[in-house]
Amino acid sequence: MYKGGPSYTAQSAKIIRYAGLLLPVVLVLYGLYIQAGLVDSVQYVNDVSFFAMSFLWFVMGIIQFLFPSRTKLDSALRLIAYHVLAAGYLLYVSGIATPFVAFWLLLLLASNMYFSKNGLSLSILWFVVVVAVDIVLHHDVSPMIVTYDLATLVAIILSGLVTLSLSLAQEVDHTALSKSKQQESLQRDRVLTIVNNLADAVLSVDMDGIIRVYNAASLSLLDTNDSLNGRYIDDLIKLVDKSKKPVSLFNQLKTTKGASTRDDLNYVFNDGEEIRLEITYSPIRSSYSRSKKSETHDGYIVIMRDITKAKSLEEERDEFISVISHELRTPITIVEGTISNVQIMMKHPDATQVMLTDAITLAHDQIIYLAHMVNDLSTLSRAERGVSDTPEDIDVRELIHKLHNEYNKDATTKGLHLNLDITGTIGHVYTSRLYLEEILQNFITNAIKYTKIGSVTIIVKQKLGIIEFAVKDTGIGISKSDQTKIFQKFYRSEDYRTRETSGTGLGLYVTAKLAHKAGTKIEFSSRLNHGSKFSFSLPVKPE
Ligand code: ATP
Ligand code: MG
Repeated sequence: MYKGGPSYTAQSAKIIRYAGLLLPVVLVLYGLYIQAGLVDSVQYVNDVSFFAMSFLWFVMGIIQFLFPSRTKLDSALRLIAYHVLAAGYLLYVSGIATPFVAFWLLLLLASNMYFSKNGLSLSILWFVVVVAVDIVLHHDVSPMIVTYDLATLVAIILSGLVTLSLSLAQEVDHTALSKSKQQESLQRDRVLTIVNNLADAVLSVDMDGIIRVYNAASLSLLDTNDSLNGRYIDDLIKLVDKSKKPVSLFNQLKTTKGASTRDDLNYVFNDGEEIRLEITYSPIRSSYSRSKKSETHDGYIVIMRDITKAKSLEEERDEFISVISHELRTPITIVEGTISNVQIMMKHPDATQVMLTDAITLAHDQIIYLAHMVNDLSTLSRAERGVSDTPEDIDVRELIHKLHNEYNKDATTKGLHLNLDITGTIGHVYTSRLYLEEILQNFITNAIKYTKIGSVTIIVKQKLGIIEFAVKDTGIGISKSDQTKIFQKFYRSEDYRTRETSGTGLGLYVTAKLAHKAGTKIEFSSRLNHGSKFSFSLPVKPE
């Protein structure tokens, strides 16, 4: 259906439709009264015109009732037809100054409804024409007609002006309302855009714990593509505490007075996997809230973030610090005890030189052990902070010879052969010198430390642009169960032969980290009582 101007509503359209059907009935009845001579009318021409007009009134009324107008043109044509008919009726049947002129008001309203100001003006103009024609046609028969007609004209013009001012006021209200609606929806869109682009999951829940609004991040956090609208929050977000006891989020929301945060709860996926969440929640107090009491509100807002990684890093760091302090405490206690013993012995006349030397040697060993550990830790920290990881051009053959010279003496002291197996063209590598030396030094010192008889061999080979570095020994080997643990921090084998040697258990842990930083991975193979081989590869630096 064609919708009219600003004053058009479904209600007004309905009234016009029914009035269109009722009007002919009343007009025809009145016409019949005149025809019967019960009412006087100077305008009444003859029965033929009256019946023809009555017939047209009925046809128009029925058409208007059964088939409401659908286009602007349709409405315009119908309004014109009604105006012509009404003019005919007033001029040739009832006369203008009769109660029926009030029906012209309906025409005014309909014209205003469909064509606003212009429609209304045309309707009034047409009435002026009808009044003028009436005066011209009938003033000599009844001179009073001029007065009556002019009075009616004034009444109709005044009604038209009132209608116009009312509809203009309505139009202004309408524009202001649609403007404020537009602004409101713009604000809403802005807020929604911000919320949707947040990396944190944001949910708004009503007073009954039903989800009403949520953002895209909520779907990815909860790993679902289904709509969350209308879902009960506790059915959707299943939380457990540290002891795996279920926690109702809705209960948390109901008991909170202001904004609260919890980071000790885990969200459990359907397959049982868990992630640690940081949940911030707060009651929503809307400014439109009907009640002014502070404890009433319009629901809750829940913001969630996956903090699994951050928490595990934090926990790992805490554990690391606690293990390190534990590892440091033992040698420090030994050194402290031994030195205070030495102090006492020095005052004692019976203390022999041998006793003093033994005590000092023990303290010295422990200090060396501590220095070794601090060295490993500082290498680790430097690697983690990316210090000294600037790559440089390194001549592999030169570096290997240097390391061989450095450790040859240690090996010989233990009665071991430190062999070098470096054949063919090797070339250069482009990597951090500190990392490369540290990794190889760790391999070589371990191999010497954990080999009682036989040899340690440093092997370097180049094949298809890849250089493989390996350190092989004929030592005590590593048992299958130890093989899974040797890269853990502070891990040392329980084997008594390992325990005879000193070490912090940090060497391979640091080595693995450095290898990762240098873009390679440590491989190893070992057989208990037969020996081990640790290796890694790096690409040859292109010329
Ligand atoms: P440090 O931190 O002083 O090097 P560590 O040698 O004990 O102490 P890692 O180098 O990390 O520590 O080695 C961890 C463990 O792996 C050792 O304690 C030892 O049990 C085992 N291991 C490492 N290399 C060898 C090897 N070549 N032969 C046998 N066992 C080895
Ligand atoms: Mg070691």
